[in-house]
Amino acid sequence: MTDWISLAAGQSYPTGTLYVVATPIGNVADLTLRALHVLGMADAVACEDTRNTGQLLSRLGLHRPLLAVHEHNEREAAQRVVARLAAGERIAYVSDAGTPGISDPGAALVEAARAAGHRVVPLPGPSAVVTALSVAGEMLQTGDGRFTFAGFLPTRAKARTEAIVALAGLDHAWVLYEAPHRIADTIGALAAQLPAQRRILIGRELTKLFEEAITMTVGEAPAWLAADAAHSKGEFVLVVEGAASDRGNGEASLAPEAIRVLELLLAELPAKRAAKLAAAITGGDTGALYALALERRAAD
Ligand code: SAM
Repeated sequence: MTDWISLAAGQSYPTGTLYVVATPIGNVADLTLRALHVLGMADAVACEDTRNTGQLLSRLGLHRPLLAVHEHNEREAAQRVVARLAAGERIAYVSDAGTPGISDPGAALVEAARAAGHRVVPLPGPSAVVTALSVAGEMLQTGDGRFTFAGFLPTRAKARTEAIVALAGLDHAWVLYEAPHRIADTIGALAAQLPAQRRILIGRELTKLFEEAITMTVGEAPAWLAADAAHSKGEFVLVVEGAASDRGNGEASLAPEAIRVLELLLAELPAKRAAKLAAAITGGDTGALYALALERRAAD
C-alpha cells in the first residue's frame, strides 16, 4: 500500500515558518495529507478556538501545544507567535473550519509574521465557497466563470437590501455565507430584490450527514425553505446566478421590488423618467423597466 504520509513529507518544511492550514468544513476525512503532516510536526498550533481545535487534533491522534489567536486578540497574540517563529519554531495556524482568512481570522497573523521577515506557507484545503462553486454547474458559466465572493450580508434589513441591490447587477455569479437564524430573512430579501427566474444554489451542511446542494429559481426558494423546518437548519452557502442570465427575458428579468417601485413612480411620472428612477433605486435593468412602463401605460 502507498505510504501516503511520505507523499506529504516529500516537500520541505522550513523552521521559523508560519503554516496556514485549511481544515474540514464538516467531514474530518477531508483534512489533507499535508495538513495532517504539518499539524503533526508543528511546535505549536495557533487556532481560533482551542477547544474546537483540541477536539480535531485528538480525533487525528495528535497532541500539540495550542495558542489562542482569535478575532479579539489577534494582534497581540500574533506578536507571541512571531516571537516563537523568531526562536525557530514551526507554527501552524488553523481557523475553526475551512480556510483561514476566508470570513475567518488569520489576516493580522499573516501580516505580522511576514512583517517580521518570516515565511508564510499556505496549505490548501476545504472552503465552503469553493465547495459550493464546484457544483454550481452552468450558473458559474454565466459571466465566463468569474464569481464574486460576498461573504456574510449585513444583518440590518436596510443595509442587507442595499448590498443585494449592488450585487444584483453583477453579470457573473456571486456567493454568500449565511447562518441558520438568518437564512429565512436572507432568502426573503433575495426573492424581493432579484428577478424570480434567476437560479440559486443552496448548499446546506456541505460534507456533513444531512448535506444538500440543490438548485432552484430565486422565486421558488422561500417556499422550499418553508416546506420543511429541517431546511433552515445548519450552515449555508448560497450561489446566485449573474445578471447576464436576465437579458432578453422582458418582465421576467425584473425583481418583484423593481416592478413595485416602477408602478408607484408611474402614478406620478412619465414612463421614461419612472423607468430611469426605478432602475437607479432598485438596480433593475433600465431597458426592461422602460418596456414594462410602456406596456402598463398602453393598458391604462
Ligand atoms: N473559513 C471558512 C471557509 O473557508 O469556508 C468559513 C468560515 S465562516 C465563519 C462560516 C460560514 O461558512 C458558515 O456560517 C457558512 O455560511 C459557511 N460554511 C462553513 N461550513 C459550511 C458547510 N459545511 N456547509 C455550508 N456552509 C458552510
